[in-house]
Amino acid sequence: MSDKSKIEWTDATWNPVRGCTQISSGCARCYAKTFSERFRGVPGHPFEQGFDLRLVPEKLALPLTWGTSRMIFVNSMSDLFHEGVPDDYIVDVVRVMQAANWHTFQVLTKRSTRMRDLLQSKLAFAAQDPHIWWGVSVENKRQGLPRIQHLQAAPATFRFLSIEPLLEELGPLNLKGISWVIVGGESGPKARPLEAAWVRSIQAQCQDAGVPFFFKQWGGVQKSKTGRELDGNVYDQFPSIIIQPVPNKAKRQALIRQFSTTPE
Ligand code: SF4
Repeated sequence: MSDKSKIEWTDATWNPVRGCTQISSGCARCYAKTFSERFRGVPGHPFEQGFDLRLVPEKLALPLTWGTSRMIFVNSMSDLFHEGVPDDYIVDVVRVMQAANWHTFQVLTKRSTRMRDLLQSKLAFAAQDPHIWWGVSVENKRQGLPRIQHLQAAPATFRFLSIEPLLEELGPLNLKGISWVIVGGESGPKARPLEAAWVRSIQAQCQDAGVPFFFKQWGGVQKSKTGRELDGNVYDQFPSIIIQPVPNKAKRQALIRQFSTTPE
């Protein structure tokens, strides 16, 4: 986890869970898996256990230590709603997000039914918090589009879609209740191709629906060469954000103590 991220649509990453298992087409070239497995067996490395799922309670309080507002991608190296993460631990993670309300948190999952069910029950206490953004990944029609419906059924104030890696033409999208859409192509060796027509279709639908549209990348084997322009435009649209004041150090220290699982 890091307070600087190379991901174009966020500032920082926070991984209170590490590791995951692949569940759909979008996972086929999971960068988190490739990265984590590189360090399997390296003593003392955060990914000594490779991509095996692991809770990281010692990192729970991390966002509370950051004294300037950030956009934080939660679990860039995992999926918070993975079946191996206990409900109570997910509740703990969300309680930290709720307390650290001077940040904006981006929670993204492919386990959309579990996210929906928990937002309707044990996470209902935070579903309406505008600084916690709930999102689903959408890569294709068969596996991705149903996740949009699950997200729409969740009682969240802020919902977003990460349509990456976009693998096919998605056709008409139901954008009701969706506040932000990110689109990107796959990158790295053997990246699956992205067609401009698929991206144009989503951009046009977002424009018609008044939904901010962020085009992250064309991707490909060398993503730095393909860039992120669509028909001569860079789409960098973000939803408007209300930033809460950062509490003074004493208040933050008290919160850190409250949520820390390791002695200071
Ligand atoms: S759900 Fe996300 S983190 Fe998990 S394997 Fe798939 S792409 Fe990787």
